[in-house]
Amino acid sequence: MDILNFIGGKHLPAIENGWLDNIEPATGLPYGRLPRSGEADIERAMEAAQAAYPAWSSTSVEERAACLNRLADRIAEHFDELVAAESRDNGKPVSLAAHVDIPRAEKNLRFYASAAQQYLTEAGMAAGAHQLHYVHRKPLGTVGVISPWNLPLYLFTWKVAPALAMGNCVIGKPSEITPATAFLMSQWINESGFPPGSFNIVHGLGNEVGEALVTHPRIKAISFTGGTATGRHIARAVAGTSKKTTFELGGKNPAIIFEDCDFDLTLRTVLRSGFANQGQICLCSSRFLIHESIYDRFRDALVEKVSAMRPGDPSLPKTKMGAVASADHLAKIQSFVAQARELGGTILCGGQATHPEGDRCRQGHFMQPTLIEGLSPTCEVNQQEIFGPVVTLQPFATEEEAIALANGTEYGLACTIWTENLRRAHRVAARIDSGIAWVNCWLERDLRMPFGGVKSSGAGREGGTESLRFFTEPQNVCIQIT
Ligand code: NDP
Repeated sequence: MDILNFIGGKHLPAIENGWLDNIEPATGLPYGRLPRSGEADIERAMEAAQAAYPAWSSTSVEERAACLNRLADRIAEHFDELVAAESRDNGKPVSLAAHVDIPRAEKNLRFYASAAQQYLTEAGMAAGAHQLHYVHRKPLGTVGVISPWNLPLYLFTWKVAPALAMGNCVIGKPSEITPATAFLMSQWINESGFPPGSFNIVHGLGNEVGEALVTHPRIKAISFTGGTATGRHIARAVAGTSKKTTFELGGKNPAIIFEDCDFDLTLRTVLRSGFANQGQICLCSSRFLIHESIYDRFRDALVEKVSAMRPGDPSLPKTKMGAVASADHLAKIQSFVAQARELGGTILCGGQATHPEGDRCRQGHFMQPTLIEGLSPTCEVNQQEIFGPVVTLQPFATEEEAIALANGTEYGLACTIWTENLRRAHRVAARIDSGIAWVNCWLERDLRMPFGGVKSSGAGREGGTESLRFFTEPQNVCIQIT
């Protein structure tokens, strides 16, 4: 598959830098190429976007919503192709791409098509009815969207949909590791009715084309999802400019498992929250905090279940756990496990790179699902995001201690709380520093709700009206009445 940029309604290679290999994580082998774009490609995309902006920003919200809905229709029509492409590109099982990634990409487009049409801005009459104030929300201009590899089309559409719905032109850069589904989608942008230049997609490396995008003087806003270090780098790069930014970054999410939890429900769900997508969802629980009175029983049940999980060829429908995203990422995960060993942690199960049976995946990037206990809460393994199928277990004695452990990292993206005590659930949720707190569930999302992280997990919110507000500039219009 030769992937191309989509600029001004045309598919184009990079102007200067040639190509990058696109690697299939399950085989470790290149299966296509993508453009190694740079500053010149961003300039070309910017010219196309600037040319499209006056007309696109003046279309009615109904027309823009119709474009988004037509693109969603194409995603639905090409469902199987997109599922296979996402699995191949990322290493995730086809079952996961079919249940999570591609349905959600379609839903994102439809959700924002609808949300933008229903969005009403604020208005208010001044005291004495002397003036009427209302808020006129204008699109920003051309905005940049940068997304990571773990939920490729899901997160890309989550950002581009509200930006386009509100009348902005978009230059999007998907992750270099997973460019395929954004490229496939680009083939249906023209036929969905988006005018040339309104929606551009540029591929390549973050530190090259990504950097050129975020620092371009005419980019009005950057919506970024990715690692905390990259987010900080971008924040520094745009400091001193008037660009709007939103950062959705890493996490080190706790699952707090109280003694009064529903044991079977908790076990079943934390197995998913720990290991879905090989632990490569920003919302995955990577620290299981377990009340000491049920610690041994819960740990033993976990070990039994996790030991039975086997990574398999992601392209097979029966596979529940696939490959991790790249060789570099596998090495990073392994280095955390090695560190855990050096620190005296006990590897309860897993701990090694592996590969499924058969020739196809012999050189693929697979990691055994791993449980570790016996580490200090303050060590790097319990502090830093690993973003792989590695979960640590820590006992706690009191609610107060559980809260301190949960809050005891620099991150604050998500937590799960497992208890049948309603008062405790509310009490603990309110005290956890996180953008989202799930009680007795995980990964349930209502797209109208604000989404984001606190501390080093992000700045700003997406979702519902938060994204519609982010991608617009509010102007207060005041009319004298009497
Ligand atoms: P990275 O931060 O490495 O990359 C994210 C995106 O930024 C990629 O497209 C990358 O390009 C690009 N990029 C890298 N450097 C720059 C730069 N200097 N300027 C502009 N863009 C740049 O994250 P990963 O792709 O490794 O994704 C995993 C991370 O994302 C994890 O930390 C995870 O927690 C987080 N994440 C957060 C979510 C949230 O909602 N909070 C959701 C999902 C993931 P390139 O293609 O070269 O890598």
